Amino acid sequence: MRVAISGAGIAGPTLAYWLHRSGHEPTLIERSPRLRTGGYVIDFWGVGYDIAERMGLVDQLDVMGYDVGEVRLVDQRGRRIGGFATAGFRRVLGGRFTSLPRGDLAAMIYGTVADDVETVFGDSIGAISQDDSGVQVELQNGGSREFDLLIGAGGLHSPVRRLAFGPDSMFERDLGYRVAAFEARGYRPRDELVYVSYGRPGRMASRFAMHDDRTMFLFIFTVDQMNGPDPTGADEVKSLLHSVFGDAGWECRQILTALESADDIYFDRVSQIVMDRWSNGRVMLIGDAAAAVSLLAGEGTGLAMLEAYLLAGELHRAGSDFHGAFGHYQRLLPPFIERKQRSAQRFASAFAPRTTPGVWARNQMSRLLSQRYVGDWMIQRQLHDDFHLPDYAL
Ligand SMILES: Cc1cc2nc3c(=O)[nH]c(=O)nc-3n(C[C@H](O)[C@H](O)[C@H](O)COP(=O)(O)OP(=O)(O)OC[C@H]3O[C@@H](n4cnc5c(N)ncnc54)[C@H](O)[C@@H]3O)c2cc1C
Repeated sequence: MRVAISGAGIAGPTLAYWLHRSGHEPTLIERSPRLRTGGYVIDFWGVGYDIAERMGLVDQLDVMGYDVGEVRLVDQRGRRIGGFATAGFRRVLGGRFTSLPRGDLAAMIYGTVADDVETVFGDSIGAISQDDSGVQVELQNGGSREFDLLIGAGGLHSPVRRLAFGPDSMFERDLGYRVAAFEARGYRPRDELVYVSYGRPGRMASRFAMHDDRTMFLFIFTVDQMNGPDPTGADEVKSLLHSVFGDAGWECRQILTALESADDIYFDRVSQIVMDRWSNGRVMLIGDAAAAVSLLAGEGTGLAMLEAYLLAGELHRAGSDFHGAFGHYQRLLPPFIERKQRSAQRFASAFAPRTTPGVWARNQMSRLLSQRYVGDWMIQRQLHDDFHLPDYAL
């Protein structure tokens, strides 16, 4: 089948890889003019790691990934007041845990199909129509194309979801936090392989030292820290971050100075996507577009890869019966995804507590993760993926 995939992030290229392997003809359509590397740092483990292994990516993960040694929670003066060594994560997960910029993982996955799969960069789908013979997509830069299937893998604000299912507001569960991230060169201090995080009630600022003298910064804050609507454009994001973190203490002023020269700032709501069904005729959604679990789950990339792998596998198994494949796929996943979404919602208050006692309790609790038996039990409980990965012999 000819399969259009909107979005070349994590889910899209993973799906292209498995579809191509099973004899289909995928075409990736990516809004951005080129694949973006870098960006915020993600933790990568679980089912996503298993699929990366099946795609032959583990050696690259070893090279590109950071072996973060410690998560350090600090006070106004930068003194350690909580946190944990991450050795327990690797121990419990058998070494199958790493951290790397999201864009680097995306580039690694895309590298598996770059030479084999058509990619249309710098374009987006503006309209869709479908009938018994196929699905027609109108591209925003002009021209239309016909495919057998259209897969929406455009992330949290997927245009395909909007076109085939309805506006974002019908499916988006806003968890009440906002997130911003950017990177800067030459920032000091640097703490190699330590994730340093500073929290005030409802606000959290973190930094992580990366290769090539770059540092990644992450801000998370509750929506009640904002006086108006979500910002649009980099200048509005910068002024919002100044107003929320300007008086927060620790290194926040210095980080905000570094922010001034950043030309690529990520900003979004911390949201989940909740839908009753992910397909409509010949259109199917995967990844964040279908079932975003939010950054609070720490596993969105792995789940996006899982969905891509399962969808390709079900299509392979069902032959030309894509309706049957969609139906089976839609029965396979929801309970697992719903558990992940519930767990992320519960974790929100620990990630960026809203009160001073909450920040204190979080700091104390975090120390338990360094203790071998209690920590291992907590990690196992939180991180274990209770999902059997089928082998489709693709
Ligand atoms: C700050 C932060 C921290 C996170 N931490 C983690 C973590 O530790 N571990 C983890 O596993 N996950 C983490 N996540 C979640 C993870 O990044 C996502 O779940 C994952 O990237 C989803 O993959 P995706 O392919 O569905 O979407 P995306 O990765 O968002 O990719 C979507 C792609 O579609 C493209 N696109 C968008 N609109 C259009 C359009 N109109 N037309 C064509 N293309 C379009 C985009 O340019 C992009 O390339 C984090 C997220 C955030 C924001």
